[in-house]
Amino acid sequence: MRKLIAGNWKMNGAQAWTVKPAGFDRIYAAQDRNHIDILICPPFPFIRELFTSAGGRNIFVGGQNCHANENGAHTGEVSAEMLADCGASFVIVGHSERRAAGETDTEVQNKAKAANRAGIVPIICVGETLDQREAGHAESVVENQISGSVPDGLTEYVIAYEPVWAIGTGKVASVDDIKGMHAHIRKICGATVRILYGGSVKPANAAEILATPNVDGALIGGASLDMADLAAIAKAAG
Ligand code: PEP
Repeated sequence: MRKLIAGNWKMNGAQAWTVKPAGFDRIYAAQDRNHIDILICPPFPFIRELFTSAGGRNIFVGGQNCHANENGAHTGEVSAEMLADCGASFVIVGHSERRAAGETDTEVQNKAKAANRAGIVPIICVGETLDQREAGHAESVVENQISGSVPDGLTEYVIAYEPVWAIGTGKVASVDDIKGMHAHIRKICGATVRILYGGSVKPANAAEILATPNVDGALIGGASLDMADLAAIAKAAG
């Protein structure tokens, strides 16, 4: 399976950052990475120009969220169709920072349906909190999130397993924890779905994480802001 190295810039960046794909390319040239997919998800205002600067460099661009509807009276929202129109090929849905703000499995599922309707691939985020892991409920929590968030019959989607306690904290799940959870997700989702790991992935730990069975790539927050780090992680994907 082709590995997917996906950067989530969150609410960081500026119009000037749209030159970053050229910087990535200088460190890891497009012709050397035909075996993997690179994706950058910037804030909405930068998607179009990033797409223009990344398109010729074999780097995909995606959104960090979308609304379930195609259009309408939803002030401040952006539809999956609008993302597609700006060049997005993927959209992250159900990131834990959004779930923490109240987003439910049903809403995530409707966003994933919207992505499919618009012809872009949803990256559906799941992951347990530290309390849930310590109580021994990590697998059941993730299983319930998948059953509530993945639309019935959807075949083209990506799962990002991101233990909430490992996001932006510098704490990384152990290789055994990652291996166990990814095997569990594989059983639920099947052989063709890419399963990413996310949570403090950095150049120093990427090779070990990306070599773990059933890890088909990474979703990267902090380290994706620096093209040298993102390229080092992509190189570690082998
Ligand atoms: C994320 O926000 O999806 C994430 C994994 O962040 P970080 O890499 O900074 O932990």
